[in-house]
Amino acid sequence: MNVQIKVLLGDITTSDTEAIVNAANTNLLAGSGVCGAIFKAAGYEELQAECNKLSPIKTGDAVVTNGYNLKAKYVIHTAGPIYKSQTDAIYLRNSYYNSLLAAESNYITSISFPSISTGIYGYPIADASIVAINAIFEYFNDYPESKIKEVRFYLFDDYTFSIYQSEYERKMKELLKNEQ
Ligand code: ADP
Repeated sequence: MNVQIKVLLGDITTSDTEAIVNAANTNLLAGSGVCGAIFKAAGYEELQAECNKLSPIKTGDAVVTNGYNLKAKYVIHTAGPIYKSQTDAIYLRNSYYNSLLAAESNYITSISFPSISTGIYGYPIADASIVAINAIFEYFNDYPESKIKEVRFYLFDDYTFSIYQSEYERKMKELLKNEQ
């Protein structure tokens, strides 16, 4: 695996990766939370106009727009699931996996993710972190020749950051153990 994975505490709108991922809704409308922050930083009118041409999308799907005033050249919008039960894991996994596929097909080599679905959409953070990290490893296992070189997680609060960091460390240890 040639990709570098980084788990960071911070605001995704400041990221200088080529693409940032928006935890969007299926109508691709500017809401609150990370979605609102991304629309504000990108420039609401231009981003909303482009989103209106691509909406609606299905839960777990991902579409690409320009990044406008963001440092990131592109925004990848994916609609995570509104949490009801553990069976939503497949949709959350699809959001991460399809965002990476969308990045790949647009020749994007670096990408930042927020913690999709764990805010307003109510997905339990510990469960979401396992799905998120597993989806990234699943993707690079499926596409060992991927041109994506860097994947970052931007977590917005200490608690979410510490959960993702320990899940990432646990996963790395598990992989190393399996290699021995
Ligand atoms: P969802 O509707 O998918 O649950 P939210 O935006 O409500 O999306 O929350 C997803 C996560 O994004 C939450 O952990 C929230 O704290 C976080 N978040 C909010 N603003 C930002 C930001 N500017 N950068 C990174 N993460 C953010």
